[in-house]
Amino acid sequence: MPEDHFETLAIHAGQPPDPETGAVMTPIYQTSTYAQEGVGKHKGYEYARTGNPTRTALQNAIAALESGKHGLAFASGMAATDTIIRTFNPGDHILVGGDVYGGTFRLFDKEYRRFGLEFRYVNVADLDALKGALTAKTRMFWLETPTNPHLGLADLATIAKTVKAHPTNALIAVDNTFATPYLQQPLKLGADVVVHSATKYLGGHSDAVLGLIALNDDKLYERLLFLQNAAGAVPGPMDCFLILRGIKTLHLRMDRHAQNAAAVSEFLAAHPKVSKVYYPFHSSHPQRELAQRQMRNGGGMVSFELKGGEAAARKVAEGTRIFALAESLGGVESLIELPAAMTHLSTAGSPLEVSPGLVRLSVGVEHVDDLVADLDAALKKA
Ligand SMILES: *Cc1c(COP(=O)(O)O)cnc(C)c1O
Repeated sequence: MPEDHFETLAIHAGQPPDPETGAVMTPIYQTSTYAQEGVGKHKGYEYARTGNPTRTALQNAIAALESGKHGLAFASGMAATDTIIRTFNPGDHILVGGDVYGGTFRLFDKEYRRFGLEFRYVNVADLDALKGALTAKTRMFWLETPTNPHLGLADLATIAKTVKAHPTNALIAVDNTFATPYLQQPLKLGADVVVHSATKYLGGHSDAVLGLIALNDDKLYERLLFLQNAAGAVPGPMDCFLILRGIKTLHLRMDRHAQNAAAVSEFLAAHPKVSKVYYPFHSSHPQRELAQRQMRNGGGMVSFELKGGEAAARKVAEGTRIFALAESLGGVESLIELPAAMTHLSTAGSPLEVSPGLVRLSVGVEHVDDLVADLDAALKKA
């Protein structure tokens, strides 16, 4: 069989017409249990925490999109992360790329440290620091690229080589929420596990919370599958359906998100009240060459710093008309927020603390002229 392109996989992978009825869209199997023909004689489904056909379709879809062998779906991105962390033992070391999602830091720092796991934070762009931080107890390197909220880049292929060269052979887990598999596929670059908050770009319409994992290793898959059922942080079939529907237009949306974000970053960089712009494909980004090598486009996230600091940042964030002041990202509608006071509040006082004058945008797919005019008007008030 020929290998289908990403766009074809996004629409068809894991979602053949329903075998029972021929329905082109995967049905929402809203059931908690399945009738058995005889004791233990069933069609592959016994109880809906263990399995659900709508969830199966989504799990197969994410595996195909990430070029992985296995996919798993969870009640949220954090539930997916939590399930991976449960595979480790007290005393294990986990390296974390600095500048991670605030909720990830919170789970590691405020919860799993209590269970005897040790987390060490390293700058993903500093290979020497990474080499120096690897120990005989390191079990995993957890990272994001681009990072949140500073849009820093990690060179996945080089990091994979570096980590795999160390005798502990730690797992490499990449939170691919910002980039999506349309922009980059970490498993192909040497990562072992990919995690998504499908709540964001994969769903794309701000109407469901869900997490996904993709991987190749059979043994780790069996362990995660066991935990998915045993701990039970599973998504409902309706939410699986919404993410499946979102995935069908992922490539179309990501192209427009990136086109709009590139224009917004150019506008901001030229604005006299803006001191710094963070966007992977912008000419001012120190890792632009790596971004262009590793990612299909720059994505839809833009952060910027204001010369007027926190007070000016608050005025801008509260002064837009189209950009909604809200946490989250990745939907068709544009959002604006202040990471230090909102999404990254849990990092206050830690080495991951974010500048209070930083503004983060999730650039949507509205008309770009309207978005630029909206930011221009808000900046006038700052
Ligand atoms: C939102 C987010 C998460 C957490 O996902 P939820 O679905 O909200 O639990 C993890 N990582 C990143 C990068 C995110 O943006």
